[in-house]
Amino acid sequence: MFKTIEDHVRQQVAPAALRAEFRQHEFDNSRRFCQLIFCVSIAVWLVFDLIVSYLGNQGFTWRSGLFMALLCSLTIVLGFTRRSHHFDVLNLLFITVITLGMRLVIEGLPIALRPVWLVLGTSTVLYSVSVLPVRRWSFFCAMVITWAMLNPFYGTNIDLDELEAAMLLSYAVFLSGLVIYSYLRIRQAKLHNFYMSRLLLEQAYVDVLTEIPNRRSFMVKAERQLHQAPPGQYLAMIDIDNFKKVNDRFGHDVGDEVLKRVAAHIKTTMQGYEFARLGGEEFVILFAGLDQQDAERRVAMLCQRVRKDVDAQPVTISIGLTRIIAGDTLSKALMHADQALYQAKHAGKDRYVLWQQEADKQALDPQGKG
Ligand code: GH3
Ligand code: MG
Ligand code: MG
Repeated sequence: MFKTIEDHVRQQVAPAALRAEFRQHEFDNSRRFCQLIFCVSIAVWLVFDLIVSYLGNQGFTWRSGLFMALLCSLTIVLGFTRRSHHFDVLNLLFITVITLGMRLVIEGLPIALRPVWLVLGTSTVLYSVSVLPVRRWSFFCAMVITWAMLNPFYGTNIDLDELEAAMLLSYAVFLSGLVIYSYLRIRQAKLHNFYMSRLLLEQAYVDVLTEIPNRRSFMVKAERQLHQAPPGQYLAMIDIDNFKKVNDRFGHDVGDEVLKRVAAHIKTTMQGYEFARLGGEEFVILFAGLDQQDAERRVAMLCQRVRKDVDAQPVTISIGLTRIIAGDTLSKALMHADQALYQAKHAGKDRYVLWQQEADKQALDPQGKG
């Protein structure tokens, strides 16, 4: 089953919008990691700069101070960066500054040692870039900048016709190929995982037939809302009247269309509230921030809307409405709404009934037609 879905996902090309969402999601998730990479890079650069400067009896120069200030400023900017495409540019700036700083530090070394340190520096920068959430263009620009700044043939004593040059070139090709391959593969795997988890979450929380949230989704969201306890919470349980007859008379396909139509009415009229298909031909809505009059008006409106929709097979709905008071659990509220729904059915269907305590019920008649 998992393999089937995985194969299905692999065959699909992720649409551009999904790719953009993935990039943003990846950046949101790894912003702290990017900050860590920036900070560690600055720290390592500073240690090397101090070692080389003090070995050369220079101390901490103004140029080192300038680089530090620039790198730290870019790291602070990263703290305020929220869009992934801004990070693509910011990262390039950071790489330009730090590789320039690295070049200057390495130029403080004896000339014979420079090539190996330039290649070591390049490897470190390229590896770091390959694990950062950057887009392809930004990654390839970073590679070009890094090789340009830390070019082991510039400012060193290697001749292009020497054996060492051939070895360095071979290593540069191997390193670049490896980094490009792992960057592309990791990105593709991450995109697939993102796509797959989106697909599975959608299937787990959205009702396949009506395309509105399902019971699982409702339970999670309603529990959370109940916990936050905003004022004016009401729960409505909806059931299609005589739905069995619709199925028996017109067939299951027509029954499915009716379910979709009722779900569409709920979706259009209940925007801003939690609603779901509980199962079968039952739906549920959780209101918040309404007084009793408003809650009753809304469910009455829904009854009327479904009743007046006579395009295809006309149906009606019954609704059980209950007020949620502080301390009520979701299952208690659902039970009260169900009891009210039962009364609505017994009172003749196509109406709503507001749940009342037994004591109140003796004083008041159930609500009339919505
Ligand atoms: P009442 O007015 O008392 O609610 O009567 P009813 O016939 O609507 O209620 P009942 O619970 O007896 O019937 C519900 C029917 O809903 C039974 C089942 O076949 C049908 N049903 C449940 N899920 C689906 C579905 O996904 N598609 C279709 N077409 N029918 C469904
Ligand atoms: Mg039912
Ligand atoms: Mg029914």
